[in-house]
Amino acid sequence: MLRYQGRSLGFDTIFTDEEVLAAQWCLLLPDYMHGYPEPSKWSVDRSYTYEDHCRCGVHGRQHAPFRIKKKPRLGRHQFFCLFWATEYFAVPDVFSTLADAGITGYEEWPLLRSGQAVETTVAQIYIPAVTSAVYRPAEPGRRERCPQCGTVKHNVHRLGPMQVSAELLAEEADLVHSHDWFGSGFEGHREIFATQRVARLILESGWKGLYITPVQIVE
Ligand SMILES: [Zn+2]
Repeated sequence: MLRYQGRSLGFDTIFTDEEVLAAQWCLLLPDYMHGYPEPSKWSVDRSYTYEDHCRCGVHGRQHAPFRIKKKPRLGRHQFFCLFWATEYFAVPDVFSTLADAGITGYEEWPLLRSGQAVETTVAQIYIPAVTSAVYRPAEPGRRERCPQCGTVKHNVHRLGPMQVSAELLAEEADLVHSHDWFGSGFEGHREIFATQRVARLILESGWKGLYITPVQIVE
């Protein structure tokens, strides 16, 4: 485990593959962002994508696929996030590999081109389930309560393994959203937890675009 300063996205701790694979669950963080959701005035606090949206970024169920302007340029990345949104997208090879391995807890949702009902070659990894396991920060971190919707958002966890309560061990799916919300100001999101099976597939496939950190299960 190594402190790494100056990373613009995600974590400031770098874990080895062995440290990640020693954990039963891990946290998937964006490591490549490209493009913006359409239309150009898109924000969480509009009804384009989510139900029950608030200006703090907290939202209910996703009711529509995301749209982008141009075909995404992914380079050698297999995963990416759009700026402003915190959903994860992936290339077809990822979906076929996850399906072949029997990974559960996700649906493949289309990513559409704006202005035309044409699907891009990439798709969203839509994750419907929210775990009941709660975030248990080792040290009390900063958090804020939205005056409008009352939701508490934790500052994004960055240092060391994220600590989460033991209910996570009882999950039946391989991919789940966090119970807690993270972010500050107008940004709010749930983190994505994945089982060791998913982490192993990502690492063994050499896929890029996500950063994987171990989760520590505590009482
Ligand atoms: Zn709010």
